[in-house]
Amino acid sequence: MRLLLVEDDVMVASGIKLGLTDAGYAVDWVGSGERAEEVLRTESFDAAIIDIGLPAMDGLELTRRLRRPGMASSAMPVLILTARDALHDRVQGLDLGADDYMVKPFELPELLARLRALLRRSQAATTAVLSFGPLELDTAGRRASVRSGEIDQVIDLGPREWTVLEYLLIHAPKPASKDKLLQALTGWDKEITPNAVEVYVSRLRGKLEPHGVALRSIRGFGYRLELQLP
Ligand code: CA
Repeated sequence: MRLLLVEDDVMVASGIKLGLTDAGYAVDWVGSGERAEEVLRTESFDAAIIDIGLPAMDGLELTRRLRRPGMASSAMPVLILTARDALHDRVQGLDLGADDYMVKPFELPELLARLRALLRRSQAATTAVLSFGPLELDTAGRRASVRSGEIDQVIDLGPREWTVLEYLLIHAPKPASKDKLLQALTGWDKEITPNAVEVYVSRLRGKLEPHGVALRSIRGFGYRLELQLP
């Protein structure tokens, strides 16, 4: 995942950059809106973090420009950073096409969580079909299937099984933590208990393992999709 960070304050920018890099993102940092616009003409990013308070072209103007139709960045997730009392900036930023905002100062874990949510949403929107080995999840058509030779066999999934599998597929081949899976499930049911993840993982195993797709437990962490050789 490659991110563009647009922030003129060197201290703030290096803190954010360090945190994002530690979290496994590749980060390109630029200090002005003009430079960001230039970079976006030739390079593509999975998301951009844009400070509103920039010298010359501000973050709002940059957001407006990168949303112009025809720009490769027109669908890129954008998170804007605003000052505490700048409600007007936040509203205007969202109106101009920003997807989310953070009010300065903020805690890094919250920025990371917001980014993950943005990236997930944009992946789900741009990739209608998620696949892993013979398994395909058509997120637009809500259809799960496994391919075996020429045959496409539909797998019947309940909504919570779907949620767990979709999350695992988005992150595959990396493992997904149990906590994150639980958070994904909480959208369905506020009363959900921590062992719900195990319940749905076990049901998914029953449906997928006969087709060579395994949900491997990562001890003390979560689960990962793996292909099972016959
Ligand atoms: Ca600034």
